[in-house]
Amino acid sequence: EHGYANRTLYINLDNSFVQSKPVAQKMKDLFTGGRGFAMWLLWNAVADGTAWDDPSNELIITGGPIGGITAYPGSGKATVVTISPLTHAIIDSNGGGYFGPYLKFAGWDALEIQGKADKDVIIFIDGDNGRVTVEEAPLEPVDTHLVNRMITEIYGKNDRERRGISVVSAGQAAEHIPMCGLNISYWDARRQEVRIKQAARGGAGSVLRDKKIKAIVVRFTDMGGDANGCAKPELVRKAGARINSELTRFDASQNDMRGTGTPYLVEIMNRFDLLPCKNFRFGADPDALKVAGEVWKAMYDRRGPDGCWYGCTMACAHGVPGVKLRTGPYQGECVFVDGPEYETLGALSSNLSIFDPQNLLELNFYCDTYGIDTISVGDSIAFAMECYEIGILNPEMTGGMELTWGNADVALELLHQMARGEGFGLIVGQGVRFMKKYFVEKYGADPALMQDIGMEIKGMEISEYMSKESLAQQGGYALASKGAQHDEAWLTFMELVHKQIPTFETKAEALHYFPMWRTWFSLHGLCKLPWNDITPESNKTAREPGKVPEHVENYTWLYEGVTGKPTNIDEIILASERVYNLQRLFNLRLGYGTRQWDYPPYRLMGPATVAEYESRAERYDGQLKEVVGYDPTGRTTEEKMAALREYKEKQYDLLIDAVYQRRGWSKNGIPTLDTVRRLGIDFPDVVALIAKNY
Ligand code: SF4
Repeated sequence: EHGYANRTLYINLDNSFVQSKPVAQKMKDLFTGGRGFAMWLLWNAVADGTAWDDPSNELIITGGPIGGITAYPGSGKATVVTISPLTHAIIDSNGGGYFGPYLKFAGWDALEIQGKADKDVIIFIDGDNGRVTVEEAPLEPVDTHLVNRMITEIYGKNDRERRGISVVSAGQAAEHIPMCGLNISYWDARRQEVRIKQAARGGAGSVLRDKKIKAIVVRFTDMGGDANGCAKPELVRKAGARINSELTRFDASQNDMRGTGTPYLVEIMNRFDLLPCKNFRFGADPDALKVAGEVWKAMYDRRGPDGCWYGCTMACAHGVPGVKLRTGPYQGECVFVDGPEYETLGALSSNLSIFDPQNLLELNFYCDTYGIDTISVGDSIAFAMECYEIGILNPEMTGGMELTWGNADVALELLHQMARGEGFGLIVGQGVRFMKKYFVEKYGADPALMQDIGMEIKGMEISEYMSKESLAQQGGYALASKGAQHDEAWLTFMELVHKQIPTFETKAEALHYFPMWRTWFSLHGLCKLPWNDITPESNKTAREPGKVPEHVENYTWLYEGVTGKPTNIDEIILASERVYNLQRLFNLRLGYGTRQWDYPPYRLMGPATVAEYESRAERYDGQLKEVVGYDPTGRTTEEKMAALREYKEKQYDLLIDAVYQRRGWSKNGIPTLDTVRRLGIDFPDVVALIAKNY
């Protein structure tokens, strides 16, 4: 049927059991596909309080009904859902790299893996003949940039077969630390090499290796025709033609995704004091321009960018060839490195004060090949560096390493230790939440200080935007379901520059609307970046009362074009709300999902140390006087900090009250019975769960 394979693939590794499960119409009506299907399958597979490494935990990878079309940019994402080893709650993470579409073309809307194998296995899903096998892995430990190529060549005898293969693997660090993602690869026929994308956040790679999966391979070589079975292909083409024309005309002068990619953001964030520096203390650094977009653009592969999926006209990913490595197991080799994304630069460059591009390429290469999430590891190293600076750590505790700002050699050595599972790297690799507790218990650190400067929310390290001045963005981070991730709601400019959300009600509306839209992309296998590149052209109808903006209309055309069913913006938000609320309730089942988990560390809200306050003293003094009504004259910095903190914390409490009300949640952040009834997810176990927690 249009957009769906209408069955999911269940594999239990305890006994290599393979089963095809039908997809009922009700499952489609309620949960749409992609992340929605994954959430529902996992909901039914585990018990309350299940631990991430319990054999019953599942690793679920999905595409989505719209995923796999080639006429619209960004239509090839896969979403992975599991109980996270990093947060111990539900994680959803997405990545490009062809696996989502190929899985569906091979006949499956979702892959659901439960149990654990005795020894390393490869799961092979052969879409050409419908067979699924669990095979003993023939490989010794090898790093991701090699393993995905080797496996592609084992399962693809010729160029045609290799083009139809996508491989999911994890790096070696996934055997030791919880912040490792999935590496998803495809065969780049133009370059005759394997290219790799990451579903990096939340530790799905660590779950993959805990289940002893070396790799998952999907093969689908019959590329003729419309594998997605679009109901109204002309509508899909119409939406694609409109956005592609806008991207071609406006991208270079708007976000320059096609030329520079996300590093173009470095200069902008630095200019607006939003670039995290030295563990989110400051928002700008005079050296930041050494790693700005133009620097990377000059190094990019002349053969052009590589998109996540056929037909992505945004093609925001760029690589750097011929990078000579100076450390680690590949010392002396020249390798191709994915150009660092903005988030990677925020985490590993400005946040650590490392501004040499060659060192950053090497850090990015080793993060990718060891399978480590750059955001989590960058924030974790930054936290350790600050603890070293203020004397909580010393060389005796770090194995002789000097964790000083800008020390690229130490950052690289920590990565190598994470991959080998040894040394102080093993401590840092457990993440900020772990270190906060560990430093208090082992080294007598002040628990309140650790709480204020440990940059994680719900156990997830914070992605790379300062939010001290944006209350809405603080909510965007801290209310996100999976932990501190910007892609649910990035509201800083809307609040501070465009002044569009001045009240608690308008902020709450934005904190409802944007997370629901972004959820919808993950239900369908879509990338959200083309949305971000909204052009003056596509946004013009936003100013006409009663008119739907073009970029929103595009998605309604896409949905109808693929599935044949007309939709509108209200239905889109409703479909997302069902899944979003189920995920919130799922966290509740695991011991999270209440108000206490929705608070950021104070440093995300305001200056946590005297140095931070004094670096922006004029601004903060002004805020105290004009906004708080507190005269800072003659006060000590500590007194002023306390007054500002009291105000900011109160504002934040009022914000989450407003958001909970808008979302139909209780004061404690739990969806109410009325809400789950309105959404049609008032199943007996949901009702019992809500009743138990009131
Ligand atoms: Fe991939 Fe970028 Fe295209 Fe999104 S816009 S699908 S991240 S290449």
